[in-house]
This record gives sequence, C-alpha cells and structure tokens, in this order.
Amino acid sequence: MVAPILKEPDPLLHRKALTVPKITSEIEGLIETMIETMHAAQGVGLAANQIGSPLNILVASPNGERGGEIVLVNASLTRGRGRAKSPEGCLSLPGISSEVSRPGSVSASGLDRRGNPLTLEAEGLLAKILQHEVDHLEGHLFLHRLGFWNRRRLLRKYEALSNSLRQIKL
Ligand SMILES: [Zn+2]
Repeated sequence: MVAPILKEPDPLLHRKALTVPKITSEIEGLIETMIETMHAAQGVGLAANQIGSPLNILVASPNGERGGEIVLVNASLTRGRGRAKSPEGCLSLPGISSEVSRPGSVSASGLDRRGNPLTLEAEGLLAKILQHEVDHLEGHLFLHRLGFWNRRRLLRKYEALSNSLRQIKL
C-alpha cells in the first residue's frame, strides 16, 4: 500500500516520535507501507510521521533497490564525525532543496524490523539519510539545519510554490 505523504506545515511533522513498545503485525504492515511509499515517491528515505504515524520508525534505501531497504525502529544517533556538505531535499517539502552541512559519518542504533538490536555505522549518502530521517523523528525538517536567512528564503519559495499548486487544484 502506498500512503499519502504529509507536507509542511502539517503539525505531525513537528512532533517528536513515540517509542515503539513491540513489533506487532500492525507495525510490520506500517513498515511495508513506508517502504512502498518511499519507492513510489522515488525517495531514498522516509520517517513514519511523514505518512501520519507518530511512531519512531525510519526506512532508507540509498541505492533505490527494492528488497535492500534499511529499517530502523526506535532510532537514535549515537555519534557523528567529520563534516560533509551536500544538496538535500525532502518529500514533505516538495520543490525546494539546499546545501546542508552535517557530520560525514554517524552511528545509528535501534531495532531492526524483527525487533533485534541493530547498530549501523554509516558514511556518505546513508549517513545523510539517517540524519535527515532522525531529524524527522525529532520533529525537525532539514530547514532547521540552515541559517536564518537561507531558511526564510526557502520557506518563502516553498509557500509560493504550494500556493500556486493549490490554485491549480481548484
Ligand atoms: Zn524529509
């Protein structure tokens, strides 16, 4: 199943995710929906609140290949090293993107989709995806990583774009 992706300024995008107490069949179904939705949107990562669930779950697919997705439940970043700056966009902020500076490598831990402990040592694109999605689970968008003026410029562009799309839909 493919779910609609929530767009800024949906309030769920600004809420901190809740811990998943147990992997149930509902959670497994939600994970499948997240994976399907990520691929359908041609995204490389998705956080559960982007499809309306308040739970701490992220999925990632750095190479975009079906079957090779990374699932992390109750995700937390345990450390970051170095610095990498590269362009970033977001499925919840269609139409805008910016260079974002983040640690170049991270260690992320949580549970896999069966409930087993999982720690990922990541660098490059996966490190960036994990940080972007954990930001979502903290209730933050990539805009929060930008300076005041850049963030304001991009938000204005985004608002203008979403207003024009709304008019077309009328
Ligand atoms: Zn995003």
